[in-house]
Amino acid sequence: MNTNIDDAIALLRSARAAVALTGAGVSTPSGIPDFRSAGSGLWRRFDPSVATLSGFRRRPEQFFEWVRPLAAQILAAVPNAAHTALAQLEQAGPLRAVVTQNIDNLHYAAGSETVFELHGHLREATCQSCASVVQAGDMLHTFVAGGPMPTCRRCHGVLKPNVVLYGESLPLLPYRRALEAVADCDLLLIAGSSLEVAPVSDIPALARRHGAALLVINQEATAIEHLAAVSLRGDVADLLPQLAAAVAGPAA
Ligand code: NAD
Repeated sequence: MNTNIDDAIALLRSARAAVALTGAGVSTPSGIPDFRSAGSGLWRRFDPSVATLSGFRRRPEQFFEWVRPLAAQILAAVPNAAHTALAQLEQAGPLRAVVTQNIDNLHYAAGSETVFELHGHLREATCQSCASVVQAGDMLHTFVAGGPMPTCRRCHGVLKPNVVLYGESLPLLPYRRALEAVADCDLLLIAGSSLEVAPVSDIPALARRHGAALLVINQEATAIEHLAAVSLRGDVADLLPQLAAAVAGPAA
């Protein structure tokens, strides 16, 4: 396995079109826990069935109690050096898009422009009774501050945040555009993801089939080390800025 940061820099420098695939690990330095890290991951402390679509439909109040502290952490979070480095790499040219599993809005907040949010976001919610789509900002702040489970103003149905729960399909348009970007890239930079969640876990193999090299940055080993041209083990908030500084110049 190649773990040389200079080779990672060379890969980025020679890339015609790079795409980043990010996961919860990119936001842990912003204070949002991921799902699987040893010790701190959210699934080490909760039963994952709480975040399934069928679980939500059966007992939405249980979902909201589970999500309240996570939503509070997301609302309080600001982008960290990893988000900023990815925005700089986009501005400097080699990075065409960020494909993310994160729902925290931090890539946009850092200035990334082409972002495909494959697991949705918290900016909107959908009424489970009348299907109205509403802006979720104010409602979420009220809820996080201790308010009741959010309900629809029109029909009082339960409002489900527009995030993808287990058992739910990915949003069609962002998913299609992400796959197009990946099929056209020559470098896939995978950062802060365990790659355990399907169908996102299939994206690295898709990139390889289309001839792209894989550059992995993660604190723990992932299942695709054997496919990676370079695999850097460490903190994304440390390593991504080093790559951005080398590729995007001293301003990065
Ligand atoms: P995951 O928890 O399965 O994996 C995160 C990976 O990142 C782990 O392998 C961990 O070792 C690594 N990591 C953690 N902090 C890191 C750091 N500072 N530097 C480098 N690596 C680090 O997360 P996933 O692969 O994104 O998939 C799980 C699901 O988690 C997704 O569906 C996503 O929607 C959801 N999620 C999102 C957020 C968020 O929006 N910030 C937070 C929690 C969970």
